[in-house]
Amino acid sequence: MQLLMMGPPGAGKGTQAAKLVKQFKIPQISTGDMFRAAVKEGTELGKQAKACMEAGKLVPDEVTIGIVRERLAKDDCKGGFILDGFPRTVEQADALTKILNELGKKLTRVLNIHVPAEDLIERAVGRRICKKCGATYHVKFNPPKGANCDECGGELYQRGDDNEETMKNRLGVYEASTRPLIDYYKIAGVYTEIDGRQPIDKVTEDLVNVLSSVKE
Ligand code: ADP
Ligand code: AMP
Repeated sequence: MQLLMMGPPGAGKGTQAAKLVKQFKIPQISTGDMFRAAVKEGTELGKQAKACMEAGKLVPDEVTIGIVRERLAKDDCKGGFILDGFPRTVEQADALTKILNELGKKLTRVLNIHVPAEDLIERAVGRRICKKCGATYHVKFNPPKGANCDECGGELYQRGDDNEETMKNRLGVYEASTRPLIDYYKIAGVYTEIDGRQPIDKVTEDLVNVLSSVKE
């Protein structure tokens, strides 16, 4: 299965992708996670991405397309994958179509998690992530049992770009550059919308129901 999780920042893409990884045993490919890892390691890619991420802007298409092309060619993607946070522009979507053609694959489904704009800032500002395993929590909607990660005991942190001001920029970028992809994938006939305002487990249930009826 080649899946694509779409939706505005804070909609729950990463949370749901992690659940689908467990269920379908295919890797999650998050461009945001890849950029954060590169920034932490101080690589050339990290240097290019850092300023864009801090400002809530997109990393240039050619850079982003390059890392996805490389990642999708790896062996663990042969049996399928879940893209999370890519594509975010029409140019990236066109490049993805090309990459998939080259690999002899097609998108099985585009899953758009719909959450209204007014909920998204609260979701992002309350997000906490485990430094060790990457598990995602929310101080109000999905709190950890104690101060540390429930899964591995790792320390939790707040992303530098999960503040109100940067989120406003990220939401503006979403409206201008990423929202047009809804029509793009509707026309391609692979689009499904899921109500992301429901509790986390109910959203997962809806996603799994959709996927149980799709043909590869
Ligand atoms: P994205 O990957 O789309 O940016 P995340 O999966 O990281 O979003 O979720 C953003 C924040 O919202 C996290 O703190 C997460 O725990 C929380 N969250 C995710 N899904 C829901 C939901 N269905 N209801 C309430 N909060 C949610
Ligand atoms: P995310 O973790 O998906 O919220 O992404 C965090 C940040 O990484 C974004 O605000 C962008 O700066 C950058 N980023 C992630 N994915 C992409 C992408 N597909 N294209 C361009 N920039 C991206």
